Amino acid sequence: MLITPRSAASCTTSTLAARKRIALVAHDHCKGFLLDWAERHKAALSQHNLCATGTTGQLLSKRLELPIESMISGPLGGDQQVGAHIAEQKIDMLVFFWDPFEPQPHDPDIKALLRVAAVWNIPVASNECTADYLLSSPLMNQPHQHRIPDYNAYLKGRV
Ligand code: PGA
Repeated sequence: MLITPRSAASCTTSTLAARKRIALVAHDHCKGFLLDWAERHKAALSQHNLCATGTTGQLLSKRLELPIESMISGPLGGDQQVGAHIAEQKIDMLVFFWDPFEPQPHDPDIKALLRVAAVWNIPVASNECTADYLLSSPLMNQPHQHRIPDYNAYLKGRV
């Protein structure tokens, strides 16, 4: 029988560590908002491990002077790279200021990234206000158990 992770019964739990691995992504017209937001929260962000898509990462490292792992630029595959890290449970939280006013050439990648973040039940902020709420949560600096798909059970049901 094929078990898809669609119910609580097909999930298991995993723990997000107190020090989170946070991915930061912003589309071009939203980069200013993300840079300002990150600067405002620099002290809080410095408590975590940061990564970003290529251009966002370069701009953030310059502004924040914090170590940030820059991946490939979004339109060249960076969103897929971030998505793959989420599926591998190497990213705990996504701050993705996507542009609601402009179509993007890599729209399928963006959709895939948001989908995989939902599949793996990680916290996602898609605008500055939600990002403020996330970062001010007491869960940011403590281990947090969350439900994720039970991959072993899923695989067992398929082979
Ligand atoms: P960028 O990619 O940080 O390389 O601009 C972001 C995106 O467009 O997804």
